[in-house]
Amino acid sequence: MSTFNFTPSQSSIDAAGLRNKIRDFLATALQKVSARERAYSWTGFNANISEAMGKAGWIGMQWPEQYGGRDASPLERYVVIEELLAAGAPVGAHWIADRQSGTHLLRYGSERVKREYLPKIAAGELYFCIGMSEPNAGSDLAAIATHASHVDGGWKINGAKLWTTHVVRSQMMIALVRTDRSQQRHGGMSQFLIDLSLPGITIKGISDQTGEEHFGEVFFDDVLVPEDCLIGVEGEGWQQVNAELALERSGPERYLSSYRLIEEFLSAQDETSNELNRCALGQWAAELWTLRQMSLSMAGQISEGKEPSLEAAMVKDLGATFEQSLPHQVEALLDDEAQTTPSALREVLDYLLLASPSFSLRGGTREILRGIIARGLGLR
Ligand SMILES: Cc1cc2nc3c(=O)[nH]c(=O)nc-3n(C[C@H](O)[C@H](O)[C@H](O)COP(=O)(O)OP(=O)(O)OC[C@H]3O[C@@H](n4cnc5c(N)ncnc54)[C@H](O)[C@@H]3O)c2cc1C
Repeated sequence: MSTFNFTPSQSSIDAAGLRNKIRDFLATALQKVSARERAYSWTGFNANISEAMGKAGWIGMQWPEQYGGRDASPLERYVVIEELLAAGAPVGAHWIADRQSGTHLLRYGSERVKREYLPKIAAGELYFCIGMSEPNAGSDLAAIATHASHVDGGWKINGAKLWTTHVVRSQMMIALVRTDRSQQRHGGMSQFLIDLSLPGITIKGISDQTGEEHFGEVFFDDVLVPEDCLIGVEGEGWQQVNAELALERSGPERYLSSYRLIEEFLSAQDETSNELNRCALGQWAAELWTLRQMSLSMAGQISEGKEPSLEAAMVKDLGATFEQSLPHQVEALLDDEAQTTPSALREVLDYLLLASPSFSLRGGTREILRGIIARGLGLR
């Protein structure tokens, strides 16, 4: 039976200096951002904030300078991400590009693609979305039917993607499609970089129960993409997408989505606060610290070129369970006055009560993650 590997991260940096710099930046950048928008955190789309972050050099900071980055270490990026999430910065516009698409292109993209797109991502101008799920392929991603055929001048794509976060406002997608339909399940898939303004693409937004249009659906009708928009190796899309999912599942956003609630709850306490509230704060801090150590270990392993998909699934499952339960715990702790009086705490709580059910669906459902963990441990 295999075991988990959560080796503590060995890197060390001047975290305090870096934290002060990003906190100074956020104090100005977030001045006019409302409590509700802060509750969206990494899913909130705010182009002005992304542009300001790009100008300040906080996007793609771990990429090489020649592609618009500044050669920062994974740990430095981790510190910046923690501060963004703690402040509730609405950084959703560039989040996917910074977290995974850019890093994926760096590894698998052609030189032309890297030079053209990475600097624009780092500038906070170019937004990406993830084209994995389809109407008949969610948990069972190997059931995707969207396909690309090799034609003169490139690849022709047909099919549809569903639940695509920020597709309505993104300019680019990295999509997993079939390139060899004679192959079953995990074979014959490839990844493509798709410019969403190309002819043949139709995009429709979908509102979730919070009333926000966070995601949408996309239809591809004979969409012609250039030859070098094939990312990586034809037929190796399944292996590549798994490397991408390790980036997607193990970061601090997988346990800090409800963090604004802790900040608002803490601000609402004073010397008369009851012991239950103080105990709850202590318990959340302890849980957060454990999740943080696990997630930091992932950042270290990924930077060493490893693909810790089993451990990443563990971080995502435990993290989602924590951030999903937090709004309910806070609501149970509020007294009658706090329940009914309008406040920043109430505003953040109301949003998170509606948004949090999706935390154990997006990025892979709880059941699927537990299946991955069981298989990784040799239990199924
Ligand atoms: C907020 C949000 C944002 C998203 N953003 C994106 C995005 O940007 N890009 C993208 O590609 N997708 C995105 N998704 C889609 C997400 O990845 C899928 O919703 C998820 O993979 C589940 O797929 P499904 O919705 O088709 O549900 P299904 O796969 O139909 O699953 C329905 C239920 O059955 C359970 N189930 C399914 N199979 C099994 C099994 N074998 N064993 C046990 N239980 C099982 C599931 O756990 C789930 O509870 C997003 C989803 C949400 C909610």
